Amino acid sequence: MARQKIVAGNWKMNLDRAAAVALTEGVAARRSEVPGVELVLCPPSLYVGTVGTALKLAGDTSPSGVWLGGQNMHDKPSGAFTGEVAPAMLTDMGCRYVILGHSERRTLFGETDAIVNAKAKAALAAGLVPIVCVGETLEEREAGKTQTVVTAQVRGSLAGLSPEDLAKVVIAYEPVWAIGTGKVATPEQAQEVHALIRSLLANLASPAVAADVTIQYGGSVKPDNAASLAAQPDIDGALVGGASLKAADFLGIAAAFNS
Ligand code: PEP
Repeated sequence: MARQKIVAGNWKMNLDRAAAVALTEGVAARRSEVPGVELVLCPPSLYVGTVGTALKLAGDTSPSGVWLGGQNMHDKPSGAFTGEVAPAMLTDMGCRYVILGHSERRTLFGETDAIVNAKAKAALAAGLVPIVCVGETLEEREAGKTQTVVTAQVRGSLAGLSPEDLAKVVIAYEPVWAIGTGKVATPEQAQEVHALIRSLLANLASPAVAADVTIQYGGSVKPDNAASLAAQPDIDGALVGGASLKAADFLGIAAAFNS
C-alpha cells in the first residue's frame, strides 16, 4: 500500500449547523480538483451526523469522496461517561477517522500518552483510523528537547500496537507553538521531526510499514505556505485548524499536496 496524502480539517468548537453544512457542501463541490488527496472533515461531535448527511455517507461509501472524522472519543465502548462519545458511535455516524491526543486535549483536558494509547487501541478495534497528534511546546523546543519529547509521545501513544495496526495509523506532527499562532514551522524544522517519527515507526514496526505511514504536519498551515511543506519528503499531508473553516483555503492547502 502506497503512502496516502491526507488533508484533514479540524473545525474544533467552531461554526453553527448551517455553516457546517455550507462548508461541507463547499468542500464536496470542489473535491474533484484534488483527486490525489484524501480529504477529511472533523466537525464538532454534535454536528458529525449533520456533516455525514450533507456528505450523503452510506455505509462505507462516500459519494463525494470526502470523509468524516471525530475530534476525540472515549476509549470505552459504552457506560457512565457523561458527555463522552464512544468509538462505535463515530463509526455508526459514518466516521472513518478520529483525531486523538490533539495538543488542546493534552494541555486543556489532561490527556496523557497513556490515555492517547488506550484511545488509539480502541479506535483501531472499532475500525477507525486514529490521527495521533504529537508535538513539542516552544519551551521544549528552545530547551533543545524536541526530539526527546516527540520520541516519548510517539512511543507512549503507540505502545503495544502490532505492526499491522501501526500500518493503519496516521501521525500528525503539530508543534504546539505553531498551532493557531500564525507561526508555521519552517519546512526544514518540520521535515527533521517527520523523519524522526518515520525512523521511530521503523523501529516499532518495520521500515516497510514506516515508509507507508502518512505523517501530517499541523500548525498554521495556509494555502500560501503549504507547497513548501508538501515538497518535503516525509510530509504527507496536513491537519488544518483555522484554515479548514473556509472551503477555498482548505482546498488550496489540499492542492499543494495533490501531486
Ligand atoms: C490544529 O489545531 O490542529 C491546527 C493545526 O490549528 P491551526 O491550523 O489553526 O494552527
